[in-house]
Amino acid sequence: MLIALPGEKLGVIEAFEPKGEFIVKNGYIYATKLSEVKIDKKQKIIEIRPLKKSAFNIGNLVVAKVDYVQKPFAFVTIVSALNEGLAADLKGMIYFDDDFEYMPVTEGSIIRAKIIGISAGVLMLSIEGPELGILEAYCNYCGGPLVIRGRNSAKCIWCGRILKLKLASDFKSKALPYRVILE
Ligand SMILES: [Zn+2]
Repeated sequence: MLIALPGEKLGVIEAFEPKGEFIVKNGYIYATKLSEVKIDKKQKIIEIRPLKKSAFNIGNLVVAKVDYVQKPFAFVTIVSALNEGLAADLKGMIYFDDDFEYMPVTEGSIIRAKIIGISAGVLMLSIEGPELGILEAYCNYCGGPLVIRGRNSAKCIWCGRILKLKLASDFKSKALPYRVILE
């Protein structure tokens, strides 16, 4: 399943016959709502159907996996929203301002984040707030499991390194969404 965000450009009107809910502007087809998109390349039809549940409103929480970190950004893949798994590959991004002297997340971390904006098909996320931040993480030196050591500090039980991270208040105490466990 492909997911389109509101305002996402889906194709040129000459190439596809659009069906469902969309707008056409300057020859391009755009989604108007969070939609499921089906493309029939043979018939040249693009079908855009709004998703029933709007899981991606600003303020909603999502669970995501950190794909990579490039200061001051972290790039993530959303794995669940409104406690439901997602089949689609939806990307998100977190910007960390200068208040953080360390990167608050590591690659491979599972985080809970809040949607603060939607831009060019990417969810803009924040992990500020006690319930937000890392739910599960591994040491970025040796891959070992981390245990909580103090506020926003975790210790690797394999190599003993101490990492400063933004931990969620329920770090490691909740079951993760099924898609994360299966990976
Ligand atoms: Zn380690």
